[in-house]
Amino acid sequence: MSLPNHTTFCERYGVRPGAAVDLSTIDPNDTGEFKSLKEASKSLKKLRKKLRKYQDRFYAWNQKSLLIVLQAMDTAGKDGTIKHVMRGVNPQGVTVTSFKVPTPEEYAHDYLWRIHKAVPKKGMIGIFNRSHYEDVLVVRVHNYVPQNVWSRRYEQINSFEQHLAENDVVILKFYLHISLDEQARRLQARLDNPDKRWKFSKGDLKERKLWDDYMAAYTDAIQKCSTQHAPWYIIPSNNKWYRNYVVAQVIVETLKNMDPQYPDPEEGLEDIVVV
Ligand code: AMP
Ligand code: MG
Repeated sequence: MSLPNHTTFCERYGVRPGAAVDLSTIDPNDTGEFKSLKEASKSLKKLRKKLRKYQDRFYAWNQKSLLIVLQAMDTAGKDGTIKHVMRGVNPQGVTVTSFKVPTPEEYAHDYLWRIHKAVPKKGMIGIFNRSHYEDVLVVRVHNYVPQNVWSRRYEQINSFEQHLAENDVVILKFYLHISLDEQARRLQARLDNPDKRWKFSKGDLKERKLWDDYMAAYTDAIQKCSTQHAPWYIIPSNNKWYRNYVVAQVIVETLKNMDPQYPDPEEGLEDIVVV
């Protein structure tokens, strides 16, 4: 299957505001126009080069920040996406924040408090490994707060993200879509590999049993909160290389559309000779 020339990855994998979402109809095995990693490796390399180029300009330009939200079920590849997509990008221009179970101090504040503090400043790409969406995902699935509390959060999140967007934060949200079977394989691989065992938690199996509840919660989060100013992208993620490829494509397309420019140099530099 090849992409028609006019179709961008943003259009292809982005969720149009107001569109109905049915995750069961989206193929996590999709690999677009490629049959294998081997076929894609040249394109991946070129894409990494482009990302490096745009990030260099974006950092120097210093006019906007880029917030990348990663959400997914366990093992879908939040960590791997960060490691592989950002490989080679200047670390000085990137922040990564992982949101865990809130600390007592975080619990003592509203749920967006810790989030807002971590939003990247101008020139920076900020990656959220989990995010405020946990407050309508794990929190909803486990009833950590009553329905009348979490159900109001979709609108609060949209307003918060709109506020950020109107203040020079460009937002991309990725849901890394894997199948239940693929998760089983990856959890087993973590158990079987001594170097990966540290990533396994018995709690992951409890969450896995709640798969359908999570899919319902993800569907609502994506459907209610994919907006013009902060779109959701559903990324086929059973194949790690294709996941990385699509995420990188969406980031590159977004940076390109911003058209970041190197700032004008000081005047009168032409005549200067450094001795
Ligand atoms: P990991 O990403 O594997 O390090 O796990 C982090 C854990 O923190 C996951 O089980 C998340 O569901 C949990 N977590 C993150 N944010 C929240 C939140 N706002 N409320 C409750 N649990 C959360
Ligand atoms: Mg985990």
